[in-house]
Amino acid sequence: MTIGGDAPVSVQTMCNTSTDDIGASVEQCKRAAEAGADVIRLTTQGLKQVDSLSRIVSILRSEGIGIPVVADIHFLADAALAAAKVADKVRINPGNFAKDHDVACAKFSELIEICRDEGTAIRIGLNHGSLGERITSRYGDNPTGMKEAVMEWLRMCVDRAFFNVAVSLKSSNTLVMVEAYRLLYSAMQEEFGFTFPLHVGVTEAGNGYQARIKSAVGIGTLLGEGIGDTIRVSLTEDPINEIPAGRAIISAVQEGYTPIGVRDSVQATDYDDFIFKASTLWGPSLLDRRIDDFDLTGSTIDGRPLTEEEAVEFKDMLMQACRRRFTHPEYIACPGCGRTLYDLESTFNEVKKKTSHLAGVKIAVMGCVVNGPGEMADADYGYVGEGRGHVTLYRGKTPVLRYIPQEEAIDKLLELIEKDIK
Ligand code: SF4
Repeated sequence: MTIGGDAPVSVQTMCNTSTDDIGASVEQCKRAAEAGADVIRLTTQGLKQVDSLSRIVSILRSEGIGIPVVADIHFLADAALAAAKVADKVRINPGNFAKDHDVACAKFSELIEICRDEGTAIRIGLNHGSLGERITSRYGDNPTGMKEAVMEWLRMCVDRAFFNVAVSLKSSNTLVMVEAYRLLYSAMQEEFGFTFPLHVGVTEAGNGYQARIKSAVGIGTLLGEGIGDTIRVSLTEDPINEIPAGRAIISAVQEGYTPIGVRDSVQATDYDDFIFKASTLWGPSLLDRRIDDFDLTGSTIDGRPLTEEEAVEFKDMLMQACRRRFTHPEYIACPGCGRTLYDLESTFNEVKKKTSHLAGVKIAVMGCVVNGPGEMADADYGYVGEGRGHVTLYRGKTPVLRYIPQEEAIDKLLELIEKDIK
């Protein structure tokens, strides 16, 4: 398949199964393919998981399922080198490809050569939370730093004449994420005279309506400007749910629900349809502070006007997604992957239930201690899984209660926050 150029914007998702559980992973890949996913990613922590991935790919291909499979690598460059011979694409994170930058560059050169020989693509997938100190001390922990971090790696690709590359610059903060992609898009055009395909997404968006609205604002703003070739709506839910959400954002933009489109009100079939269209229509202007409010008169759901309750609920959620007004806690939750060792979705829902009164507090719920603390970005508090059945609680980036039993963790988190804000 092709990503970029004239190809339609594709939709991706990622398995949340253990990659070593071959049966469950194959099943989830099949469900994703049936639901219309164009690409599927699996976490690939080490060489053992590369072997598992190889078996998963063989089973899928033997059953005639051709969906491209991406190996998701963090921390172990050698796993990327091995995965490049197995997967269709290898995602590496510049922030943690190797500890030492010179080693990272040497390993990346090796990776390029293997990918060239094998016809494997690379995604340079940076997340705001994983920017290294080498970058933040020079450019800042901000969209410019994100853009510069990625440009270094793209220059290596250009120098080696390797162009089978996609790039992402995700953040859970819609403002940061949109600015980073805009900066990168302009920098690529200016320096290279072309743009590498962009994989666009709001990371750790959480679940439910708030996550969909946040994703529609971030992804929809960029797609409306012609930026973005493949998307992932990251949800702390069944990964299959990410596919209709992604398609809904693409459709809303294509139907003219953008600030420069033909619409000034929303005609939706149901509330789900409404939130995507309204978010891509008004979200970009709120995000860029071109407007301070929007008028829902004239918008309809299944031919009727919105109820007062629907209108208030949606306005609050959109304002918060655009970082304009915080009426609820701000949740940052990873979608979970093969590294997650607890029931992330139900835990996240329980945390939401118990903390719903804490408007404006940023609370992260993360699946693993390997990536979680780095990826929870600017959260005030973090609930991070640490091994099976245990959790570490963070205040900002500092662990304050380590390795506590999972059954006690939500109450302890609440105690911690309430003591702080008294
Ligand atoms: S933070 Fe979540 S999505 Fe990221 S690696 Fe850990 S479990 Fe997976």
